Amino acid sequence: MLEVDYAVIGLGAVGSAALYFLSKQEKNVLGIDRFDPPHTMGSSHGETRITRLAVGEGREYVTYAKRSQQIWKELEAITEEKLFDSVGGLLIESGTQAWVKYGGSSFFDKTQSYAESESISHQILKKKDLQKKFPAFQLTDEARGYFEPAAGYAFPDRIIRAQLDLAVQQGAEIRVHQPVTQLRQQGPWVEIDLREETIRAKKVLVSAGGWIKDFLDEKEKSQFQICRQVLHWVKLKKDSPMAANKSVFMWGYGPNPTDFLYGFPSLDGETVKIATEQFESVPHPDFLNRTVSQDEQQTFLKEKLEGKFEGLLPEILRSEVCFYTVTPDAKFVIKSHPGMSRVLMVSSCSGHGFKHASALGEQLANQLL
Ligand SMILES: Cc1cc2nc3c(=O)[nH]c(=O)nc-3n(C[C@H](O)[C@H](O)[C@H](O)COP(=O)(O)OP(=O)(O)OC[C@H]3O[C@@H](n4cnc5c(N)ncnc54)[C@H](O)[C@@H]3O)c2cc1C
Repeated sequence: MLEVDYAVIGLGAVGSAALYFLSKQEKNVLGIDRFDPPHTMGSSHGETRITRLAVGEGREYVTYAKRSQQIWKELEAITEEKLFDSVGGLLIESGTQAWVKYGGSSFFDKTQSYAESESISHQILKKKDLQKKFPAFQLTDEARGYFEPAAGYAFPDRIIRAQLDLAVQQGAEIRVHQPVTQLRQQGPWVEIDLREETIRAKKVLVSAGGWIKDFLDEKEKSQFQICRQVLHWVKLKKDSPMAANKSVFMWGYGPNPTDFLYGFPSLDGETVKIATEQFESVPHPDFLNRTVSQDEQQTFLKEKLEGKFEGLLPEILRSEVCFYTVTPDAKFVIKSHPGMSRVLMVSSCSGHGFKHASALGEQLANQLL
């Protein structure tokens, strides 16, 4: 039986970072994934992720967002590959009622307050300034904007690939296409069942994204909601204000969490990636509908985009399905497995985890060590 000191189960955004940091300090480290990451079955695909420092989801996350950007810079220096781009990020709140993302008060106000208390450079823009600087957005008179120059986008595939490649260079072993089917704690060991093999590890991190549910009992697993999300690449009119937009954006245009759009500058000159969020859930990632119908695309164009942007054509060139794993308060869950003290578990970060994942992986590696 293979025996290792540390095993990481799930090598997506968080697990690949944990493996990278574990293997910096320890040689007897194993990473296992049910697919071959980076892949398109979990929560970390779809070309880009927004990163921002003043995160309205909670002041406690600011340190993770800052540290992740530092880690990406370090990885960029080693790999000589572009992993993220600080193109600046715009948050807009419009409408007469405050937009509430995850309960509590206005997401905009929280963002501004964290930026001020954490000394994060930013500007607050009124409608007149917004229209001048961001003419693509069709705003109401009450609209206000928060612009953060250090925000931007990250390339999730490249970051996961870099973390895994470097982990292997540092001595980690990786098993792909190997779903872990069961864990058992036996004395000083955790036994990890793969389909045709059992491996022993002294300490284990389960960073299995939405599949965290497979490692928990009914009561525990019910706190994780698997929420299908769809990304759309919408066609641009040539030479339009939308084609000229260089920043990432988040736009809460009404009071509800789903009254929300976010998007990216065009990477191909032909399309922009834009998406909304939804919080209806399925019981498990296996139950996700992974196809996007033309009807669904038309509904998105009509209900979400119409009248909001200058310079988009009513045409979607492609769409992709991804999913959030959302906890009741939309926070992260990091804790020992309820029945196995040698197993540390991390949830898939409620739809806002990529910007924090590398720092979170570093912290989890240190916790295990
Ligand atoms: C559409 C969309 C947009 C998003 N936008 C943003 C954004 O702009 N900014 C931001 O910060 N965050 C964003 N997020 C959230 C962020 O991407 C996720 O929080 C983060 O990527 C989750 O990473 P993870 O490592 O937890 O999960 P994953 O990357 O899904 O990794 C889990 C891994 O575990 C493996 N695995 C599962 N079960 C097993 C098993 N039994 N055995 C072995 N391996 C297993 C899987 O194959 C997978 O590789 C977005 C998410 C989605 C879906």
